Amino acid sequence: MNIPFIDLKTQFSRVEEQVRKNMDAVLEHGAYIMGPEIPALEEKLADYCGTKYALGCASGTDALTLALMSLDIKPGDAVFTTPFTFFATAETIALLGATPVFVDIDPVTFNIDPEKLDKTIEAMKGAENGCPLPKVDGLTPKGIISVDIFGLPADFDAIKAVADKHDLFLIEDAAQSFGGEYKGKKAGSLGKIACTSFFPAKPLGCYGDGGMCFTDDEKLIERLRSHRVHGQGPDRYDNVRLGITGRLDSLQAAALLAKFEIFPEEVELRDKVAATYAELLADIDGLTAPSAPEGYRSVWAQYCSLAKDGEHRKRIQDALAAKKIASPIYYPIPLHLQTAFKDLGYTAGDCPVSENAASRIFAIPMHPYLEKDQQKYIADIIRNA
Ligand SMILES: *Cc1c(COP(=O)(O)O)cnc(C)c1O
Repeated sequence: MNIPFIDLKTQFSRVEEQVRKNMDAVLEHGAYIMGPEIPALEEKLADYCGTKYALGCASGTDALTLALMSLDIKPGDAVFTTPFTFFATAETIALLGATPVFVDIDPVTFNIDPEKLDKTIEAMKGAENGCPLPKVDGLTPKGIISVDIFGLPADFDAIKAVADKHDLFLIEDAAQSFGGEYKGKKAGSLGKIACTSFFPAKPLGCYGDGGMCFTDDEKLIERLRSHRVHGQGPDRYDNVRLGITGRLDSLQAAALLAKFEIFPEEVELRDKVAATYAELLADIDGLTAPSAPEGYRSVWAQYCSLAKDGEHRKRIQDALAAKKIASPIYYPIPLHLQTAFKDLGYTAGDCPVSENAASRIFAIPMHPYLEKDQQKYIADIIRNA
């Protein structure tokens, strides 16, 4: 049985006609940069998330960079985030010269632990509570980037309470969670600014790179718009600040407008696939399948389970590989242990929950078009390993 990890082919066959039509329209009108597709998409997706504004940009990484720029992040600033995420989350903080401060995760949701977050901020303010801090002097706490890992929103209410207590901004890295929900609110609407990605493998992907920022704040959307185009001011030839080439391409927006038509239905299908996995994997000895807490909806960007230990994981991965089924590890090296961040001085043991998850976690195929018999085939391989 040939089971793709993500099935973009089946999806394309559903939207092909509209994608070609929308892309042809761009080729006809010729506004490849900032064409009418950009505001059309921004309006549609802001509406979907329930935010006032959205800003199309060149990638999820640029969305994070633009968000941090618009909040004036600079050297000497500390931004608290999770080590159990894609590199870009912390990379963007460091690129602006600020310092990422890593806070360990909750063992069930894999998202940042709000209690440890509060304690780590207290530690930076001088409390001696044993929380690990980066070896950088004189940092000022400025903000938090929470990540909705694997499509499951982080515990926004608890994190927001910590942010408010310490007067920090909160950015939601919703690169994996567009389509997810938290207590009736859409992922992408949690936080001062939320950032998502349209990388092809994300729940809503385009056919190249793309991303988006969401906010309710009129001043921030103005700042974001300016940073997106080299810090452009009201007079387009007078740049009033620094920025980047952060625009979304019209062709990608055209594709996204077509793909968004079937997206809500795909979110439902993903949920069904996840529910079927949960049933099939429930009774496997030593395996912990993922789950979404009451009141949360995951969009299942990745379906990641924990094996009993590294050896068990190796047996499962080998058995799946023998049947040509991919089971990649997200993420094998938590960010506090990445070579690029070695100057921060973190060591193994600083974020034990993340390190433990990294040693046991593995993903299996997840997409809206996965069939029940394919899922059963995968579950049987895992059970027999
Ligand atoms: C994919 C991803 C990003 C970066 O998005 P790109 O579009 O690839 O730049 C940032 N954060 C998280 C959590 C991601 O999964």
